[in-house]
Amino acid sequence: MAQLIDGKAIAAQVRAEVKADVERLKAERGLVPGLAVVRVGEDPASKVYVTGKKKAAGEVGFNSWEHHRDASITQDELLALVRQLNEDPAVHGILVQLPLPKHIDAELVISTVKPEKDVDGFHPISAGNLSLGRPGLRPCTPFGVMRLLKEAGCNPAGKRAVVVGRSNIVGKPMALMLLQADATVTICHRKSDLPREVGMADILVVAVGVAELVKGEWIKPGAVVIDVGMNRKADGKLVGDVEFQAASERASAITPVPGGVGPMTIAMLMRNTFIAATGGV
Ligand code: NAD
Repeated sequence: MAQLIDGKAIAAQVRAEVKADVERLKAERGLVPGLAVVRVGEDPASKVYVTGKKKAAGEVGFNSWEHHRDASITQDELLALVRQLNEDPAVHGILVQLPLPKHIDAELVISTVKPEKDVDGFHPISAGNLSLGRPGLRPCTPFGVMRLLKEAGCNPAGKRAVVVGRSNIVGKPMALMLLQADATVTICHRKSDLPREVGMADILVVAVGVAELVKGEWIKPGAVVIDVGMNRKADGKLVGDVEFQAASERASAITPVPGGVGPMTIAMLMRNTFIAATGGV
C-alpha cells in the first residue's frame, strides 16, 4: 500500500514557516508583507477561494485587502485598479482571481500586474523566467507539488516524470519545474497514448480535470503519484483524476483528493507573497 502524502499537514508546515519568517521580517526590518486580492463578480467558487486566501494571509501575519468589484466593471476600470495596486508600496503581491467576466481580457489584466508582484506566477515574464531557468515567482500549484515531492523523499533527478495535462497554470509549469530538477519529462494531452506513457512514470503528476481518468493498472509499481485534479461526482463526492484505490495498490506514495495538492496552493501563495515582499526568489 502506498504511503499517503499528507498535503494538509505539509501545507500547515509551510504556513508555519512563512509565519516565522514574517515575524523575523517585522522585528528586523519593520516590514509587513501585503497581499491584495481582486475579485470580480459573484462566482461562488471564486468567493470561497478568496476567503481562504485572506484567512491564510491573516494567519501568517500579512496585511491583506480584498478589492471586490461588480461584474459590470469595465476593462479599463479593472486595469486602473491593477495599476493603482502596482504603485502601492504596501502591496507586495497582487492576485486577480480567475475567471473574469467574458468582456474582460484576462491575459491583458494578468500582464498588467507588475511581474515583481505577480504572486500567482501567471505573468508572461514569470513564465519566461521559469522557461529560461531563471529565478522568479512560480505558479503556486506546481510549486506546491515540488514541495510535496520533497517531503515524500522523492528527488526527481534522473527519474522519469510524466505530467498529464498541459495548461499554462499547472501542466506546463509543472513540467518545467521537474525539468529544472533534472527529471526526464514527458508531457501528455488528449492525443497522447496515456496507458503507455503513464506506465513509464517514476513520478506521475495528473492535472486534467476528468474524474478517475488515470487507471490504477496503468501505474508503474513504485511510482510516486500526485493527483492535482478536483472533480465533483454526481453523488457529491470529490475525486481526483486518478483512480485512488487501485493506484494506491501500485504506487509507493500518493496524494489523496481532497487533502493532497489542494491545501498546498494557498500555502505556496503565502510563500510567494513573502518572496515578493523581500525581493528574494
Ligand atoms: P485545464 O482545463 O486548463 O487543462 C486541462 C489539461 O488536460 C489540458 O491541457 C488538456 O490538454 C488536458 N486533457 C484534457 N482531457 C484530457 C484527456 N482525456 N487526456 C489527456 N489530457 C487531457 O485544467 P487545469 O486548470 O490545469 O486544472 C486541471 C485540474 O486540476 C482540474 O481538476 C482543476 O480543478 C485542478 N486544479 C487543482 C488545483 C489545486 O489547487 N489543487 C489548482 C489548479 C487546478
